[in-house]
Amino acid sequence: MHEFYASTMKKVYIETYGCQMNVADTEVVLSVLHRAGYEPSLSLEGADLAFMNTCAIRENAEEKIWNRLGHWKNLKKRNPKVVIGVLGCMAEHLRKDLLKNSGSIVDLVVGPDEYRKLPALVESIGGVERLANSPHTPEIAVKLSRTETYDDILPFRSEGISAFISVMRGCDKFCTFCVVPYTRGRERSRSIRSIVDECKELEQQGFREITLLGQNVNSYKDEANVGADFSDLLAACARAVPNVRIRYTTSHPQDFDQKLVDTMAEHDNICKYIHLPIQSGSDRILKLMNRTYTRAHYMSIIEMIQKAAEQIHPPMQRSGIGGGWGVIPPAAGNVGWSLSTDIIVGFCTETLEDHEMTKQVMRDVEYDGAYTFNYSPRPNTRAWSTLADDVPLEEKTRRLQEIIALQNEISKRRNLDEIGREHTVLVEGRSKKNADEWKGRTDTNKTVVFSRQDAEVGEYRNVKIIRSNSATLFGELSDLKTPAFSRRGQGVVERGEVLYDLSPLVISTIEHRESVGMMELPVVNWAK
Ligand code: SF4
Repeated sequence: MHEFYASTMKKVYIETYGCQMNVADTEVVLSVLHRAGYEPSLSLEGADLAFMNTCAIRENAEEKIWNRLGHWKNLKKRNPKVVIGVLGCMAEHLRKDLLKNSGSIVDLVVGPDEYRKLPALVESIGGVERLANSPHTPEIAVKLSRTETYDDILPFRSEGISAFISVMRGCDKFCTFCVVPYTRGRERSRSIRSIVDECKELEQQGFREITLLGQNVNSYKDEANVGADFSDLLAACARAVPNVRIRYTTSHPQDFDQKLVDTMAEHDNICKYIHLPIQSGSDRILKLMNRTYTRAHYMSIIEMIQKAAEQIHPPMQRSGIGGGWGVIPPAAGNVGWSLSTDIIVGFCTETLEDHEMTKQVMRDVEYDGAYTFNYSPRPNTRAWSTLADDVPLEEKTRRLQEIIALQNEISKRRNLDEIGREHTVLVEGRSKKNADEWKGRTDTNKTVVFSRQDAEVGEYRNVKIIRSNSATLFGELSDLKTPAFSRRGQGVVERGEVLYDLSPLVISTIEHRESVGMMELPVVNWAK
């Protein structure tokens, strides 16, 4: 665990935008820079290096960065020595534009596969000791790699109870709307061994929940371990740290199979929550998106999941509006499986009929949550260059509102079904609205608010649900001792606070997120 203390080390301040992959990458960047003599800065003011780790998935994600760069012009005026860097997907995507259009304040533009070079790049522009007005040429490093996984770099994590481990990078799917294959390159995976070791280390440090991350996490392959796939990795992690919850995101339907479902069912500490983006319920649109599956195939996966869930928890009568997916445990105990998805509304040529098909899938599946977005073309993608963005914005917005309203209705109903159930909840921190209440998450990734009583942050506690709305469950402790999972050191909830606010089930509080299934995070200030 790293401690912040008064020191003479040079300081780096990083703002992280976008998905959890970016949060994980920021930890890699901090680790690389820490080895080179930098520590995280407590604030932007006084930092030697000021970086933004950026997201390019949507237009408004990029707009945010441009706005922020506008504010950093003043920073540069106040402190001309500060080295300003733009990292991540936007750096990869826009490259020289960032230098040209940022008013000459950007010194470094560094893509996601070039972070090892950061100390050398800082030095090559004169280091942080350079004179304010000395001429220097900004550095651009944006080469994508087919092998870089940062497998040997232990990320620099702040204290907390939840940690991310990036297990693979890049994407080979080339969905026609998505920039990820161009900003993050081709798929490559870390070794099982290093990931399992990292899990063990995190457990030692007191982390209680680990999320395995990848743009396409279930296409993971350990090349050196012939045949080792994502299910093998998941099982290995679950066995290595049996008292830590394991989550993963994001899976692609094409790579989802029975083995993965069986592996989830087999291990109590693998969370029974699956984020499975559908994007559209229309086969015609799915084809235009190059999603590589049909609606029928997608539904066959849902059935597979449902069957597995039913084997553990028998279904009982419930009030689903579509009579669709969902199971309930027979009595107290950890409950059910849950599903969420991504939906893009108003993709090129989408008709009202296509839109209705998407709504029908939502009713059939009955997702617990959904991330929903208006389609916006991203430069250099196949959809941008070959398809007309022909659904007017007003109509997209109208359809989006319908989708959101439907999901809220489904979420509300599904959460009503939670009343009376007992969940094991990982206590994450104080409730925003009431300091006497804790917030935590169920195995199924639902946010629960409950009275603090004798519970402490980092504990797994049983909570009985007594009321709910579409976004949150409210309950009361139903145990007076830690159940199921052993009690260990309590972490300081720094990142936990951020993560809670981003529960994927609280769709109303999230502006937008990556269509690759990653939550969009607000600025993560490492020093706070
Ligand atoms: S949407 Fe997901 S699967 Fe498709 S190209 Fe982007 S990252 Fe890959």
